[in-house]
Amino acid sequence: MTGATPTIGVLSLQGDVREHLVALADAGAAAVPVGTAEQLEAIDALVIPGGESTTMSMLAVRDGLLEPLRAARAQGMPMYGSCAGMIMLADEVLDARPDQETVGGLSMVVRRNAFGRQVDSFETDVDVAGLDGPFPAVFIRAPWVESVGEQVDVLARVTLTAGGGSAVPPGTASGADTIVAVRQGPFVATSFHPELTGDPRFHEMFVRIVRQYA
Ligand code: GLN
Repeated sequence: MTGATPTIGVLSLQGDVREHLVALADAGAAAVPVGTAEQLEAIDALVIPGGESTTMSMLAVRDGLLEPLRAARAQGMPMYGSCAGMIMLADEVLDARPDQETVGGLSMVVRRNAFGRQVDSFETDVDVAGLDGPFPAVFIRAPWVESVGEQVDVLARVTLTAGGGSAVPPGTASGADTIVAVRQGPFVATSFHPELTGDPRFHEMFVRIVRQYA
């Protein structure tokens, strides 16, 4: 870390890498793509982007990155995962292929593609612990968090109310509070994509967490 500017990598196997690089730079970090174990060693923290977690898992195994990623996580490197990245940081994944691997780190059970089958994507404002005012949350074939261990802090939930409104994919249960953002020490994950909103507050919060753990 140079002065107060942490170097934060974005796992660049697959997914919306560029959007996270821009958001991290806007939030005051030095942002670099990470596709090799050597590049992983040169960073203070890692973002795992949105994309396709099945593909990301396969590529991580193919490129020999899965074990280095797990080792970095075990050493406490701060990590933030959005959407597919959330799945990659989960200790347990439902509705995944049996051979889907994760980096882990967050004591939670995540369900892939959880928000209904009819509506893949939606946008809604969510209250996020630690942020002032509602945050515009973009969900794209998003996972949700089905349960968390007691070490996990829930940062945000959405309430599913069938029959109208933006956060209401038809076919989902009504009135249920669903966890969509979590933190466990240096590990953070969101079902949604702050990198697609132009609102820097979530990435700024992660940069603050990275500084805390430096
Ligand atoms: N559905 C994707 C998966 O399971 C995640 C979607 C996303 O990252 N936007 O990996």
